[in-house]
Amino acid sequence: MRVGDWTLTPVPDRSFRLDGGAMWGVVPATMWRALTPPDESNTIPLALNCFLAERGDDVVLIEGGIGDRWNEKLTRIYRITDDPGIEASLAAAGRKASEITSVVLTHCHWDHAGSLVVQDGEALRPRFPNAHHYAPEIEVSNALNPDPVRRASYRADDVQPLLDAGLLSTYTGGSEVLPGITPHVLGGHSDGSSVIRIGADDDGAIFWGDVVPTTHHIQPAYIMAYDIDAARSFEARAEWIAKAADAGWLGCFYHDPDRPFGYLERDGKRYRCTAPDQMTV
Ligand SMILES: [Zn+2]
Repeated sequence: MRVGDWTLTPVPDRSFRLDGGAMWGVVPATMWRALTPPDESNTIPLALNCFLAERGDDVVLIEGGIGDRWNEKLTRIYRITDDPGIEASLAAAGRKASEITSVVLTHCHWDHAGSLVVQDGEALRPRFPNAHHYAPEIEVSNALNPDPVRRASYRADDVQPLLDAGLLSTYTGGSEVLPGITPHVLGGHSDGSSVIRIGADDDGAIFWGDVVPTTHHIQPAYIMAYDIDAARSFEARAEWIAKAADAGWLGCFYHDPDRPFGYLERDGKRYRCTAPDQMTV
């Protein structure tokens, strides 16, 4: 997809499954089961759609996948697939890991930062050694020292090797990390949960991260049970879903297995999601 002078391409990492009820919070099962049908384990399939944003010499990876540092037990619990994998998706888009110039993260949960570090024998090393990585300050601090409530969502090994290599900068949001790429720290889902704006106000895109995880989670009240501050989540979602609809930004959806792109539009007091005409996948 072209957005201003950027080209956006989905580069999905592996996929996984999470409990449908947890992904849908207080939304009644009779409603969410119709939108995202669960299997017999009550889990729903979730993509890990990272996006490549390319413009001239900038080869930017938005979000960091789940990666392959998972033991057999967790691979089974989360039903983590082998395919496609971030490097295979990059290859399909004509890129190698070494060509990525920047990586921008919305938050540091393990399903958003997991592919950035690879196990190399006993050592851990950055998968994108020529990329500078940007992540919210509070998220990096949570990943390194999570409290008991947050512990299950973070792994220090997703960020420590990047810090050791001098490849990670933190942001507090609201200003560009690169020309044309601006994260906004909203909180709600996690302390530093962010959205990333790409391009101009009148011809831009928004990467939703976990603020709007799929094209089905588009009503402001559809808040995941995972969200650490539901009231903040509602406030942030109501504000940014309205902004995106009014500005006509192209939405990029991380966890949607069927539609990586979509535009939000007002539909009375609700919203609907429409597909762009030209899809690259
Ligand atoms: Zn998350």
